Amino acid sequence: MIKAKPDDELVFLPLGGSNEIGMNFNLYGYGPPHARKWIVVDLGVTFGDLTTPGVEVIMPDPRFIEEHAEDIIGIVLTHAHEDHIGAVAWLWPRLKAPLYATPFTAFLLREKLRDAGILDQVDLTEVPLGGRITLGPFELDLITLTHSIPEPNGVAIRTPLGVILHTGDWKIDPDPLLGGLTDEDAIRKLGDEGVLAMVCDSTNVFVDGRAGSEADVREQLGKLIGSLKGKVAVACFASNVARMDSVIRSAEAAGRRVCLVGRSMHRMAAAARSVGLFEGLAPFISDAEAGFFPDDQILYLCTGSQGEPRAALARIAEGDHNHVSLGKGSHCIFSSRVIPGNEIAIRNLQNKLADRGVRLYTERDHPGIHVSGHPCRDELKEMYQWARPQIAVPTHGERRHLLEHAALAADLQVPEQVSPRNGDMVRLAPGRAEIIDEVPAGRLYVDGGMLTPADDEPLKERRHAAGNGVLIVAVAIDGRGRLASDIEVRSIGLPGDADDPLEGLLDRLAEAAKDALKRLDKDGRDDDERVEQAVSRALKKLSQRIWSRRPVVETLVVRV
Ligand SMILES: [Zn+2]
Ligand SMILES: [Zn+2]
Repeated sequence: MIKAKPDDELVFLPLGGSNEIGMNFNLYGYGPPHARKWIVVDLGVTFGDLTTPGVEVIMPDPRFIEEHAEDIIGIVLTHAHEDHIGAVAWLWPRLKAPLYATPFTAFLLREKLRDAGILDQVDLTEVPLGGRITLGPFELDLITLTHSIPEPNGVAIRTPLGVILHTGDWKIDPDPLLGGLTDEDAIRKLGDEGVLAMVCDSTNVFVDGRAGSEADVREQLGKLIGSLKGKVAVACFASNVARMDSVIRSAEAAGRRVCLVGRSMHRMAAAARSVGLFEGLAPFISDAEAGFFPDDQILYLCTGSQGEPRAALARIAEGDHNHVSLGKGSHCIFSSRVIPGNEIAIRNLQNKLADRGVRLYTERDHPGIHVSGHPCRDELKEMYQWARPQIAVPTHGERRHLLEHAALAADLQVPEQVSPRNGDMVRLAPGRAEIIDEVPAGRLYVDGGMLTPADDEPLKERRHAAGNGVLIVAVAIDGRGRLASDIEVRSIGLPGDADDPLEGLLDRLAEAAKDALKRLDKDGRDDDERVEQAVSRALKKLSQRIWSRRPVVETLVVRV
């Protein structure tokens, strides 16, 4: 390892994932302030909600580091969850640094890069579990942890100014079913060596006790599935391969063949097979074949546990699935949690299934059919005892999670705690840890297949139109600046009633537009922009009186 020079600094800079659960994008910088070298840990997405109509995928704005793209030495992906790798295919062309991932994650990354048509441009190195990556002044050791997907890695980052333990997502599962146990030895050894800072998962900091084990879930699912007659469907995250494995084995034990429903189930099954998982299981039945099996001999393993509208379970609930139907006498098990923000979608989905006569089983009424993949308080305490860091840097949480995590670290006698927001640059060494700079950070939306800034006009306008409606006005003006025909006003999404039919309201609006034009002089009527302004102002004013709202007004000026 090289020696630190006098003006070298070690900084941590989150550009996503701090103050939110999702779109993780962490940077570590080393060197003098004017010539830092950077590594990136994770590059994920988050998902849109009711406040972002038409936008399903959201990712961190990389503009700060894009300006230093030539100083990025490598991008390390800790595990294959979307909030950690989902943005790679979108943002890699702007960063262009080599990628590093373990085999399961690399398999899924290659699929994404292939879909994006950039696989041949990307330099992706497959690192073995527990492997080492040397990147300039950074020496990285992957540490096997347990989580809710195969191959979750923590990263020990050695630098001339100290060692960082970047945990990634983890829990301490004593029996994860697939993959290795949490490498407690490696973490304890790192602790003996001296950990300067631990950058750590905060998701479950408000939950006492421990997250629980996949092995316990397998037992509960086995009992439940074994007790059911009729068709059974199970919804879970496809990425939780251990859970898939448990469902498949429970189905086999109950004399049922398994049919995977939904694209990501197939994709994850292929990824799992690529790293030697799912061995010794009977082949899956296609959804077209499954219909020929007696109800008691089939189990559907479905995507869509979060109520995603286009996922398999939503289509089944709508009665829209080509091959799979659930009805009276069928059962649907949700082996998943409700991700905050999805409550309404999930409730709607469950109501539709119930309405078809399907019996529902959820974590709430059947405790034990799901466990979290993130550390609860007792696990966090244990990790702090193993690693004994000088500085606690909570990440992977909303503000309240980060601050509670910092308070927990203080209770555990960790000498320093820093809770940065996205864009806060934390100097970890030399000296006491502190936020030394604030760099641009934000969100990019995938809107209609294009990457746009979160404050982009089209989405703002769409949101405004959704709440307020739209008026479209056609104005034809002749060469002498006079109206060549009546003004036409049409509306989208605006109501009328028996007292005030819409037709009449639109006529009043047309009159108001006409009056506004009359008030313009000849020069004004010759100027399209002034015509549009005058019409828009008049229509908004009258709309305010009619509907108490200000619709989007689109004025078309035609010169005849
Ligand atoms: Zn995560
Ligand atoms: Zn994860």
